[in-house]
Amino acid sequence: MDLGIAGRWALVCASSAGLGRGCAQALAKEGVNLVINGRNEQKLAMTRNELLALNPALEVRMVAGDITQASVRAEFLAAAPHVDILVNNAGGPRPDSYANLTTDDWHDALNNNMITPIELIRECLPDMISRGFGRVINITSMAVKAPVSVLGLSNGARAGLTGFVSGVAREAELAANNVTINNILPGAFDTDRILKTMGIDEQTSAEEAQRKIEARYKTIPARRFGKPEEFGALCAFLCSQQAAYMTGQNLLIDGGAYPGTF
Ligand code: NAP
Repeated sequence: MDLGIAGRWALVCASSAGLGRGCAQALAKEGVNLVINGRNEQKLAMTRNELLALNPALEVRMVAGDITQASVRAEFLAAAPHVDILVNNAGGPRPDSYANLTTDDWHDALNNNMITPIELIRECLPDMISRGFGRVINITSMAVKAPVSVLGLSNGARAGLTGFVSGVAREAELAANNVTINNILPGAFDTDRILKTMGIDEQTSAEEAQRKIEARYKTIPARRFGKPEEFGALCAFLCSQQAAYMTGQNLLIDGGAYPGTF
């Protein structure tokens, strides 16, 4: 299916790896020009080369830096001639017991996973409205629907973003002008982040890592982790012309892990 977005410009935050990169790859395959971002410049440059290899006709610009910093956001927004598509993403907060979370932890989490996307949305919406096309995707988490006790920072900050989006997406000047905002809620995906949240790092033996991964698979009806390209495909669809009538939604992509009907 032709998604009807070739030639558009997308800003994809935190896209040098993982789910953000999956979104950038899917958009590149659709012929969307990109501005990508990540803190590590070398890793970001490698991702840019991979994206250009997927579609050499594209323009792929990169802005290295921490997207939670206002100066990096300003550079990021200025890197594209205009913004048709905004994919909000940033690193997730650390897992920890509620009892260990400090005021600074809360400020950081709110800045990463709530205020940064809200600031970018505010900057992009007026031009999207006047141009009659805009797609905003926020990468949130399955934890929005099914909170995980050790992910208190994520549960809290992402719930704030979700509430904000739910209201603003329904403003008539957005929907009536072909500007949509939707959230994608990942379950467990095969990225560096999922391994960290499971306590798997360089120190973990291969056998121990395998044991933990297999135990986790048993909690997912699909019996595997999602692939970033599956996540990217959903993101690209939500950015399409065809998805113009979907807004203010929270879409789970989790291999069936969430047990509820709604
Ligand atoms: P990941 O594999 O760790 O990748 C994160 C990417 O974001 C990297 O490219 C990283 O590059 C970049 N990044 C992180 N913090 C950044 C910042 N402040 N500014 C700019 N770039 C930044 O993570 P992921 O699994 O793709 O997760 C993406 C989001 O989805 C996170 O918020 C995570 O909590 C959420 N999520 C993931 C899962 C999952 O199963 N993977 C499930 C639920 C929710 P640099 O380090 O070079 O900056």
